[in-house]
Amino acid sequence: MQTATIKKLLNKQTSKRVKTDEERKERRAEIDEVRRHTMVRFVSSTRAPSSVSFPDNAAWKLPAPAVPYPSPRLCHVCKLEPRRYVHRLANVPVCSLACYNQVNAV
Ligand SMILES: [Zn+2]
Repeated sequence: MQTATIKKLLNKQTSKRVKTDEERKERRAEIDEVRRHTMVRFVSSTRAPSSVSFPDNAAWKLPAPAVPYPSPRLCHVCKLEPRRYVHRLANVPVCSLACYNQVNAV
């Protein structure tokens, strides 16, 4: 029983393939090649300016087009100033007390 275990362990050790430096270099080169074509890389450092590098084959697209920033909603009364408040009863956006009072007058 014990000898079987030892033999098994020895077989395992001999079957383990030892990679040479050249094989490691080849494998590393393959991995670098794949990364160069597929990865977006962000480097942040205190010693050098931060950088973003993109895959060099450029066969990719951004997931969605940029959305413009929404324009500010304007006062419902004067239609000039951006809204600041909402009239409590009429539920109307207004910019100032003057416009608020105009809603009250209507
Ligand atoms: Zn107004």
